[in-house]
Amino acid sequence: MSRLEFDNRWLRELPADPLAELAPREVAGAMYSRVQPTRVQAPRWLAASADAAALLGLDLAALQTPEWLQALSGNALLSGMEPWASNYGGHQFGHWAGQLGDGRAISLGEAVVADGRRWELQLKGAGPTPYSRSADGRAVLRSSIREFICSEAMQHLGVPTTRALSLVGSTDSVWRDMFYDGRAQREPLAIVCRMAPSFVRFGHFELPASRGDTALVRQLADFVIDRDFPELSGHGEARYAAWFETICRRTAVMVMHWQRVGFVHGVMNTDNMSILGLSLDYGPYGWMEPFDPRWTPNTTDAGQRRYRYEQQPAVAYWNLGRLAGALASLFGDMAPLQAALDAFVDEWRLQERANIRAKLGLEHDRDDDAELMAELLQVMEAARLDMTLLFRLLSRHDPAMDSLLHFSPAFYADAPADAMARLSTWLARYRQRLADETRPQAARWQAMQQANPCYIPRNYLVQQVIEQAEAGDSSGIGDLLDVLRQPYVEQPGREAWAARRPDWAASREGCGMLSCSS
Ligand code: AMP
Ligand code: MG
Ligand code: MG
Repeated sequence: MSRLEFDNRWLRELPADPLAELAPREVAGAMYSRVQPTRVQAPRWLAASADAAALLGLDLAALQTPEWLQALSGNALLSGMEPWASNYGGHQFGHWAGQLGDGRAISLGEAVVADGRRWELQLKGAGPTPYSRSADGRAVLRSSIREFICSEAMQHLGVPTTRALSLVGSTDSVWRDMFYDGRAQREPLAIVCRMAPSFVRFGHFELPASRGDTALVRQLADFVIDRDFPELSGHGEARYAAWFETICRRTAVMVMHWQRVGFVHGVMNTDNMSILGLSLDYGPYGWMEPFDPRWTPNTTDAGQRRYRYEQQPAVAYWNLGRLAGALASLFGDMAPLQAALDAFVDEWRLQERANIRAKLGLEHDRDDDAELMAELLQVMEAARLDMTLLFRLLSRHDPAMDSLLHFSPAFYADAPADAMARLSTWLARYRQRLADETRPQAARWQAMQQANPCYIPRNYLVQQVIEQAEAGDSSGIGDLLDVLRQPYVEQPGREAWAARRPDWAASREGCGMLSCSS
């Protein structure tokens, strides 16, 4: 039974599309269209997140009822749900792309839970909306599994993120072009229900701004500040400035977490950037395995590599610049916007220092610590070391006792001949640096193990779960998520989940490179 209360402020306080039809079109002067999800055949549970359900005050028994299954497949509505698709645009790969969405996301409502928090429930892949352009509004099973697992894994890793409540499958299928051979084939679909206090993207502001609709930009800004940033004080321009600065700082924090855990988003278009600084829209993302700062998992971006690992902070800054442009009409002059963009840089520097300290286990800052980290990253790149394993092994490395063999789990078979020697040189520097530290080794290790995860949703692990689910057994999704619930704790008997990518997976489809088409 639904015990949830809904208070759909988005519908009450923002202007609606007057047309009630699904035909793809440009919608001007409105933030959303009322839509109905399209039904699917034979919906069935593939997975549910107990942690996300708990945020709604539900346990899995209360969630996994026939009523909720109907609601989370888009086949029925629970009381208080009033579905809509919102209206946004964005810059894709550096170019203004006009109106883009929500082409396949349908919000069901804003649930207000006992602690007063607000969770928007949003189905991804629940059928077409006026914003679907030429596409079908669906998401295939493989991409929905990837979104479900990564949303929850990121939360447990301590990375700001949207959440995933459920994954529902169906016997229905959709046409997709397989990216590796260009052929079209039918694939099973699935629907994720995701949750966030807000799904507002930079592109929600960019679209009305691009149309000269400054009144709508202001209305949306006032709405978002009032609903999602109630802690901000002040009035008028000063309040807008404080708000934009908060967005800049939160974005810096989010991207620093991505760098820390080796996450590459893959499609950092401005329509995929959350106004709350949450990781959003898990498409062709990937996890760094052999360290390569130029790596991106997105085949669509393989030439230019705009969204490669090392570029993520710079892209975030560029995206914030586009948001600043969209908000310019709220300001008399551009100084506060520039000051907030500068705050991104300040916040980034602070976060970067803290991150180096945490990952290397240093209690006190020294100016040359950045160089020590940069050298380690160079060694990791030259030696093709597994990023996650190297940092985790460093988090229980005893410089007085361990031989280089301690680090062998982080080496791939194709490591260059001088790889061990390079690491050894760096370790000698690290040992010297640790000599300045007063903290006992056990305390250092404990602190480092909070910053350096043992378990991440490695690309091949997720791919194995996908192939198992495509063959009819979805139990692997919950099993993987169970490991990922405690990514910083070594779990006896689960060593295999922490191991480096096996050789067979290096060139396997889906284990590294992915396309946007999903
Ligand atoms: P993305 O690059 O994946 O963030 O997608 C950009 C936009 O394309 C999204 O905002 C969606 O609205 C839309 N889109 C992607 N896939 C589909 C689909 N299968 N059906 C409808 N719209 C889609
Ligand atoms: Mg998107
Ligand atoms: Mg997407």
